[in-house]
Amino acid sequence: MRTRTCPICGYSLEEEVEYEKSVGFTRAAYPAALQAHFTTVHPDFWSWEQSKRRLGVGLGIVAATLTGLALFYLGFVLSIGQYIGTGYGILILVDFILPIALINRRGAKHFKAQWQEQGKGPKPTPFSQNLTQPNLPTVSSDQSILNLVNELAVKLELPNASFSSLQWQSSIPAGRYIAPIPGDSAIFSDQTIYLSPNIQDKLSTDELKPLIAAALISYRGLRLRKTKSVLALTLPAIALYIIAWFLLPPLFPTTTSCANGQCAINNLAWDVLIVALPFLAVGLIIGNVLSMRKFKWIADKETAALFGKDQLIASLRKVSEASPSDNLSVQQRIGKLAYES
Ligand SMILES: [Zn+2]
Repeated sequence: MRTRTCPICGYSLEEEVEYEKSVGFTRAAYPAALQAHFTTVHPDFWSWEQSKRRLGVGLGIVAATLTGLALFYLGFVLSIGQYIGTGYGILILVDFILPIALINRRGAKHFKAQWQEQGKGPKPTPFSQNLTQPNLPTVSSDQSILNLVNELAVKLELPNASFSSLQWQSSIPAGRYIAPIPGDSAIFSDQTIYLSPNIQDKLSTDELKPLIAAALISYRGLRLRKTKSVLALTLPAIALYIIAWFLLPPLFPTTTSCANGQCAINNLAWDVLIVALPFLAVGLIIGNVLSMRKFKWIADKETAALFGKDQLIASLRKVSEASPSDNLSVQQRIGKLAYES
């Protein structure tokens, strides 16, 4: 088995990977361990990576589109090669991921050089502390946070929302992937509330209140509106695509071409519709992600109306002090609260 280390400081993450496996991460154990390590030991790299993510996705879309058009031109217009389908999709996917991977590699190199320049040798993650330290002083405090969440759920009139346990974790498994737990928010799953260990013992219950309220509103209060928003975008797009399969092919001639004793029927509209499918899928994912961001802002606005805008901004500032890796999201939220309302 290859050793899994941090690309920046070279610290071995084996122990952390085993720990993540023990809390339910399977295939995503290494990314989860890496992310926990980044947010605690290299918050500067983590923020940098987050801020470059949008650029990476943008470049990925451009690269995938250009590849798609080039392949379309070569394959269909010039009739070179007859490979469509899987190979085609894989190439487009690789070109989509490539810019993101290259940006991350460059960043890791830069931060590694910086790390070595500062003379910091491999440094253990303050991870084992998280495991041993909390028990005594935080038992009461965890309970008070749970009480707070349940009180908020009642106050916000969220039906069937009650929570019985609290976990301090930097990410949770989401299928084959990991979902990071942001320091300026909370994740709810069944009866468990997850909070980032970066803010553990750093914020008072009062300071946590507006942050958890915003997360609850976004999770439960806006659920119906979120579902409607996703359907309003996805259903018409899929309907149009299906209709196109009926309307477009009759407009083009269906040709039969024979080579080496094998014959194939073809229609330009079929080719175009097959090529359009991965773009439609990517477009829908991006569109839905963008529209979900609007709901975070709605939740912040409702929280500000309930608990006061200054209260929410003060809590966000506290998060940014305690957890520099969440700075990007915190600054965006404060910016919107301060200038747009
Ligand atoms: Zn490291």
